Amino acid sequence: MNTLEKSSVVIAGGGSTYTPGIILMLLDHLDRFPLRKIKFYDNDEERQKVIADACELIIHKNHPEIEFLATCNPEEAFTDVDFVMAHIRVGKYKMRELDEKIPMKYGVVGQETCGPGGIAYGMRSIQGVLDLVDYMEKYSPNAWLLNYSNPAAIVAEAMRRLRPHSKILNICDMPISIENNMLEILGFEKRSDIVTKYYGLNHFGWWYDVRDKEGNDLMPKLKEYVKENGYLVQSDIDSAKQHGDNSWNETYKMAKDIYAIDPDTLPNTYLKYYLLPDTVVEHTDPNYTRANQVMDTREKEVFTACRQIVEKNEFRGDELSLDEHASYIVDLATALKFNTYARMLLIVENNGIIENFDKTAMVEVPCLVSSAGPEPLFVGTIPTFQKGMMEEQVAVEKLVVDAWMEGSYQKLWQAIALSKTVPSVTVAKQILDDLYEVNKAYWPELK
Ligand code: NAD
Repeated sequence: MNTLEKSSVVIAGGGSTYTPGIILMLLDHLDRFPLRKIKFYDNDEERQKVIADACELIIHKNHPEIEFLATCNPEEAFTDVDFVMAHIRVGKYKMRELDEKIPMKYGVVGQETCGPGGIAYGMRSIQGVLDLVDYMEKYSPNAWLLNYSNPAAIVAEAMRRLRPHSKILNICDMPISIENNMLEILGFEKRSDIVTKYYGLNHFGWWYDVRDKEGNDLMPKLKEYVKENGYLVQSDIDSAKQHGDNSWNETYKMAKDIYAIDPDTLPNTYLKYYLLPDTVVEHTDPNYTRANQVMDTREKEVFTACRQIVEKNEFRGDELSLDEHASYIVDLATALKFNTYARMLLIVENNGIIENFDKTAMVEVPCLVSSAGPEPLFVGTIPTFQKGMMEEQVAVEKLVVDAWMEGSYQKLWQAIALSKTVPSVTVAKQILDDLYEVNKAYWPELK
């Protein structure tokens, strides 16, 4: 018999393309994370309704005991919740498209979370996530906000400064996806079969130790594989054939070239934007970027499937895919709720964890998570190459938050100019002026 206490969660960004997969995943993990209530919150009623109507049907048919509510009213959404699971995209895909295309006009990497595009997105996201924290504190002051809205690095730095005592945890799925590939390379089944050590900033880090549960060093085998193939594994090749989308496989393959510069560590794939920006730009179509691909594939597919489920008043089970890899969100919620001391990579204030690095930086490191929150594990001294790159990138992230807080054009120009993806202060200014023009509805006024 299940005696675990049931939780109430609100998914902020209820209209997200990820929401149905997360709902199916939550329903699949009720044995370890039982739910009494699921709520959706979004600021776009029409968009959320399509997703919510389908999810309501799925929940009611399979688990009628779970209450469901979709709303755009913060008081209704945030009252009586234990967890806020946040995946909002302020400005939606239309703004992501501009984040990607404007830098590309100047031959600079155009990416959702890295370089000038990520900076523009950060300037939009801060207020959105801040509102969620404030609603939670007003209506459910004991709840936790689990944030995986991007760009997580900038959002985390902003929350550290603006809401230093709030119960917000920032987490990313990219290291989890890469660790899943490591499992396939090594022939293991579950993430709990390996213990990893990692340090960095969000979308900007390195593994330096990977072992099995007996303590055997698995780095030599991984390095041998990555040196030849990057993180590309057979299941990804098969899945790309099935879905006709090879872009992630290109990224996994490129890890081989970023690994070459430092064979002592294994890199996060996002480092390609900083270490191989020329190759990335060369392989990007400036008129059809990742945002276009996502709008033409995932967004269309998810919204069509949800509409059909509601029309037919039936969920067969194969219309939407369960997002099992998002089970890290349940791992995190379970650790906080049931005091499991699970070991997880989180974005937390450095505070001496990386000895030779800014104490106030938000770093991504392994933590033990209990009901008291995360306890980061000591990393020690990091090498000069990584430290140098991280110093530059953390300054970019801090300058963005300065710019947002002070309404400072100068600081935002400095942030863009300092990004390793941008060649000069002149190009930085051109990109900034174009981005500011289209972001006026979202950014604070800059002086
Ligand atoms: P999406 O556009 O499909 O969904 C985002 C939703 O957020 C939309 O319905 C939108 O209306 C809503 N929204 C925007 N601003 C809001 C606000 N201020 N308040 C409430 N709702 C708001 O986007 P998506 O592709 O599903 O991605 C959602 C987010 O999740 C993005 O930030 C993305 O980068 C992030 N993401 C994170 C991870 C991770 O693990 N860190 C993985 C994948 C996606």
